[in-house]
Amino acid sequence: MQSQRLRRIGAYMFADLDRKQAVLEARGVDVINLGVGDPDLPTPPHIVRALEEGAQDPRTHRYPPYRGTEAFLRAAADWILSRFGVRVDPEQEVLALIGSKEGLAHLPWAVLNPSEVALVPDPGYPVYRSSTIMAEGEVVAMPLEADRGFLPDFDRIPTEVLRRARLVFLNYPNNPTGATADLEFFARAVEFARRHNLLVAHDNSYCEIAYDGYRPPSILEVDGAREVAIELHSLSKAFNMTGWRVGFAAGCAEAVGALGALKTNVDSGVFRAVQHAAVAALTGPQDVITPTLATYRSRRDRLVSALRSVGWSPPVPRATLYVWMPTPGGASSVAFAAEVLERTGVVITPGIGYGTHGEGYVRLSLTTPDARLDEALDRIRKAYA
Ligand SMILES: *Cc1c(COP(=O)(O)O)cnc(C)c1O
Repeated sequence: MQSQRLRRIGAYMFADLDRKQAVLEARGVDVINLGVGDPDLPTPPHIVRALEEGAQDPRTHRYPPYRGTEAFLRAAADWILSRFGVRVDPEQEVLALIGSKEGLAHLPWAVLNPSEVALVPDPGYPVYRSSTIMAEGEVVAMPLEADRGFLPDFDRIPTEVLRRARLVFLNYPNNPTGATADLEFFARAVEFARRHNLLVAHDNSYCEIAYDGYRPPSILEVDGAREVAIELHSLSKAFNMTGWRVGFAAGCAEAVGALGALKTNVDSGVFRAVQHAAVAALTGPQDVITPTLATYRSRRDRLVSALRSVGWSPPVPRATLYVWMPTPGGASSVAFAAEVLERTGVVITPGIGYGTHGEGYVRLSLTTPDARLDEALDRIRKAYA
């Protein structure tokens, strides 16, 4: 029944682990999931109130404008200006998305011709790869390795590949590695894109999730970036709004325009009441995130210290919701995750699920409620002491 394209994406890589979890649960094991990155804390009340207010207004009940409401596009542009000091034109350079995942999934359809190459970070968020395959593009992996700080090495990409390449995906702060990139790296990426006539799609979903005083930059801060880069933003992680499905793209007018044109054929925009609430999020107090970040930071520190106490070697991420840990003794990521699940009832994610270069790592997320996280850490301490 499935199309060849869909089959090429392959089976759900975590299906095996899901099955094991189901078997344990059937045996009555209380399974704790540190696998998914989905904020457990609620959306701030002023945003919820704005949704209620928006939904009461019958004018929100009809089709919204395709590109986003004027108020939402302006709020997004103003947020980019105040957060990064970069001016983008709300009419030409901003586009509402049904979450950044939707934008990432549709971008290759809008800018890639069949058999053109998209350069995709490996390990990486799986959508970059699957969306390229769906658009009949060719995926070429850019390995992210620890000794380079999980940044891709543009010099290692063969000339023959670059001739056919049209799109390069980047994502810093990075899921799953927790790595960060500075403006110097983004300047190199912009230069690389210019030289090889590429569009950079920078997934900046985690720019607000950072610790210890670190403030992640935007690629749009680089001079000339707006000619070659589109940046995807999400309200999901910053405002605990994963269920709301709202985000936006900003940057390169041609790419924003192409994605907008593609989307007119696919969806009919974001519910106006949700956009109204998103305006409240983007223009309201930005320090609502402070207690959320304090919670994640404390979880991060407890998690890292528990894992180190049993002799494992997790690094301390300065951004994102993830700890990306080498498997002890170089075990296979699937075997190690399965063993941890067997011995503790705790689900962690095998790195290979994010690409072949994710092998040898597992990902643990910080979005499990405190009491459950502490229970998981206790079990790990006991099982591996
Ligand atoms: C969570 C996540 C997204 C998706 O965000 P939505 O706006 O909820 O679609 C995109 N990219 C990465 C890397 C993510 O981890």
